[in-house]
Amino acid sequence: MTLSHGRPYLAIPGPSVMPDRVLAAMQRPAPNIYTGALHDMTETLFPDLRRIAGTDHHAAIYIANGHGMWEAALLNVLKRDDRVLALVSGHFGQGWAATARALGAQVEVIESDGAGPVTPDRLEARLRDDAAHEIRAVIACHVDTATGVRAEMADYRAALAACGHPALLMADCIASMGCDRFEMDAWGVDVAITASQKGLMTPPGLGFVFFNERAAEARRRADMVTPYWDWAPRAAPDLYYQHFAGTAPTHHLYALRAALDLIVEEGIEQVWHRHAILATAIWAAVEAWGREGEMRLGVREARARSHAVTSIHLGAPDADRLRAWCEAEMGVTLGIGLGRTPPEGWFRIGHMGHVNAHMVMGALGVIEAGLSALSIPHATGGVVAAARSLAAA
Ligand SMILES: *Cc1c(COP(=O)(O)O)cnc(C)c1O
Repeated sequence: MTLSHGRPYLAIPGPSVMPDRVLAAMQRPAPNIYTGALHDMTETLFPDLRRIAGTDHHAAIYIANGHGMWEAALLNVLKRDDRVLALVSGHFGQGWAATARALGAQVEVIESDGAGPVTPDRLEARLRDDAAHEIRAVIACHVDTATGVRAEMADYRAALAACGHPALLMADCIASMGCDRFEMDAWGVDVAITASQKGLMTPPGLGFVFFNERAAEARRRADMVTPYWDWAPRAAPDLYYQHFAGTAPTHHLYALRAALDLIVEEGIEQVWHRHAILATAIWAAVEAWGREGEMRLGVREARARSHAVTSIHLGAPDADRLRAWCEAEMGVTLGIGLGRTPPEGWFRIGHMGHVNAHMVMGALGVIEAGLSALSIPHATGGVVAAARSLAAA
């Protein structure tokens, strides 16, 4: 007997829940890509995207996922053999560093323990050793989706400024954009990347690169970029097809327009606030359950926790048992324990994008039922703690 029939809840950290308005926006015939309504609509996307990223500078849209944006961002600013410093707090930071290496950069990694970000003083110490300014770019995940660690990009900028280092600061905001507050210009980030399928509530397949004038300057000396990945014609096209280096991703663009409408109607400040309140309720539940047994939050300090995804330790094989039970019996799909050791000892809750209080409370209620049904040691009271947290907010 299963209680999973009804609307499923995909509570993994991407792809995220797609709003009905986003789905409906794709139900249309193929549009004319040479002139007309699609062109006009596409132009409306850029100001909204820039506002969500907190930048007055350039935005380019690609037909690609986040892995594509890793390459797009690096290819536009690097020469072969350039030195890149990667600040890594999880699996995705490692992935971006490996991509830079594969493209031909000399990559150096500073890694955290996965329970918090690389501290800015470690960055500053390394930069002070680089008197010749050989490091061209510092790359970091704003939120690493595997660990749920959030880094303070403004603190990294302050570390660069403290030693007058000219390296570009580049942020992977694929998990965080539209969930965790991000202010590219105010925080001194030169390049930010994101993708459509997380906080932006759109099917996977669109990627975005935001870049400022310093990064545009670096593009002039970059020597690895190929026509498809070049951001210059995408950000300032003479002809519409240059936006996409060919045929536009027509239905994704209509879906994105609907998703951006939702964000604009709610207001980006309120969107960030909603994510913060829902995340705090989830942490309250996990801390309450963890008063007995092995459950604990993966990120030590609340200020370093993402509001988009939470990584939770439960021990092996209980984390996998719980995930399987929640999906099969209750219709809630939780995220796997990515990049943790052992992965079977961890699970993640995605709470990004089109998520509200009753969805989070539903997922937490299902988890508490699962802990009980599977006789996994825990303290009761997680759902009550979450409810109190919401009530207090
Ligand atoms: C999801 C994610 C990626 C990878 O994106 P794909 O679309 O799966 O290629 C990279 N970095 C972060 C921080 C992510 O959350």
